[in-house]
Amino acid sequence: MRFHILTLFPKIFESFLSQSLLEKALKRKLIRIDLVDIRDYSPDVHRTCDDRPYGGGPGMVMKPEPIALALDRILNNAEKKPFVVSLGPGGELFTQKTARELSLKSELVLLCGRYEGIDQRVLDLYCDLELSIGDYVLGGGEVPAMAVIEAVARLVPGFLGERDSLTEDSFSSGLLEHPQYTRPRVFRGLSVPEALLSGNHQEIELYRKNESLRRTRERRPDLLDPDKT
Ligand code: SAM
Repeated sequence: MRFHILTLFPKIFESFLSQSLLEKALKRKLIRIDLVDIRDYSPDVHRTCDDRPYGGGPGMVMKPEPIALALDRILNNAEKKPFVVSLGPGGELFTQKTARELSLKSELVLLCGRYEGIDQRVLDLYCDLELSIGDYVLGGGEVPAMAVIEAVARLVPGFLGERDSLTEDSFSSGLLEHPQYTRPRVFRGLSVPEALLSGNHQEIELYRKNESLRRTRERRPDLLDPDKT
């Protein structure tokens, strides 16, 4: 699977992409990530990528031309049209379901905004989907893009060592995951639940299922009744 990240700050991704499973997946060519510096597509010598908003108001807006040129290059070189996602607080909420859908695409473009956002016309012309990672405003789309990359890449077959761990993850079954424990058996007076020490697989499975339901009911009742949300 191939990601193209369009950003004014490509260096933000350097350490993120050089750690842990992402680094391994890149080395094994399970995924490919191309960082595109939008400034490289600015037509002027000062590499300007922002301008004042029409209608007045504070801040600056990302100009459409450099982004359009960068996207044209990607689209013209692709065999199959890549799916273009822009990150923005006004977008559809990013969920595990969206991550699953995006993991089925062969090429994904992630467009990171900055300042007051991106000129709407470039979004209207090129974007298939606008995604928000939550109801708060960040300074840029880079952190949201990292969230999308990590959530999507770990669904690519072979990314995780144990495929099973995917099916047990929170949201995969529509529920939150049960709590996890490791050694020591007693930590600061708190013991690992007996059921997990029993060695009885049925008992362990039942315990986990009940805990998963209890947690979901307590913390995210909306997940149990999605029609109401
Ligand atoms: N003026 C915009 C608004 O109120 O909707 C906020 C712009 S924000 C300061 C700059 C950029 O950060 C956005 O263009 C977007 O790419 C990114 N961003 C900020 N919050 C985000 C969120 N919750 N989800 C996804 N992207 C976000």
